[in-house]
Amino acid sequence: MSATIIDGKDLSLALKDEMKVQIAQLEAKYGRKPCLSVIIVGEDPASQSYVRGKIKAAAYVGMDSRLIELPASVSQDELLSLIRDLNADGGVDGILVQLPLPKHIDSNLVIEAIAPAKDVDGFHPVNVANLWLGLDCMVPCTPKGVMKMLERAGIEVAGKTAVVVGRSNIVGKPVAKLLLDANATVILAHSRTKDLKAMTLQADILVAATGAIGLIKGDMVKPGAAVIDVGIGRGADGKLHGDVDFESACERAAYITPVPGGVGPMTITMLMANTIECFIKRMHAC
Ligand code: NDP
Repeated sequence: MSATIIDGKDLSLALKDEMKVQIAQLEAKYGRKPCLSVIIVGEDPASQSYVRGKIKAAAYVGMDSRLIELPASVSQDELLSLIRDLNADGGVDGILVQLPLPKHIDSNLVIEAIAPAKDVDGFHPVNVANLWLGLDCMVPCTPKGVMKMLERAGIEVAGKTAVVVGRSNIVGKPVAKLLLDANATVILAHSRTKDLKAMTLQADILVAATGAIGLIKGDMVKPGAAVIDVGIGRGADGKLHGDVDFESACERAAYITPVPGGVGPMTITMLMANTIECFIKRMHAC
């Protein structure tokens, strides 16, 4: 069997083109476009590259964006005060603070300072709690992207066995909850799981989110499974790789996402979707 590749780049482009149309309609209706405010602290090259990608995506879909670049020496109080200003700014719909932050700043305090209604990353405790309670919330971008890939590839989730490998707060746990909400039977595996292969072989839907390059070999994939590879790491060859050994997994999976060009582009695209969602909710609340 040779798996069908779910191309995250193509899908992202299609979704962003749909958003372009939607934003033009929103602007005609409400007199302004959604606006995403992105704060970056310091000059970490990886963070700068992620932020550039986000601003570029915002421009592509036609939304407004504000990039606020702060020196690594900025104090926690100054950052919190800036967030409070953005919370109160009626022209800003989404606020994203690029992580990680310098060590002298408490990331939890910063995340908690963002108004839940503008929390486009879905990391605020109120949004996390509401996700787990099944209430209206901002869903974190990567998990949302995983679900969108399954949906757009036409993969039925209800009644399936889904195995998520990795239990972080930003990927593994929310993906597991979203799959549960979509009526999958979910196994959440991690580094202390005994016999990971016995777990993954049960997976109709296998989501790998560990950062351990090549952890999932082809013989760990159930024939006919849908394999979503969230992991990204740089291999000894200097190239980007996922958690899944792509070549061998392709032989068994029915669907698979590549790395790069899989979940990565979807994460940024879902950030755009979340900003639009914040905008619409705020307009309706007015
Ligand atoms: P974390 O390091 O926070 O979590 C990794 C998880 O994987 C942990 O739960 C850990 O288990 C588990 N794990 C690690 N090694 C193994 C192993 N050998 N077997 C089983 N489980 C293991 O990472 P994140 O969740 O933040 O990110 C995961 C990966 O996804 C990374 O490669 C990251 O770069 C990538 N990523 C990609 C995004 C995208 O847009 N494509 C967005 C976000 C992340 P334990 O809890 O027991 O330690």
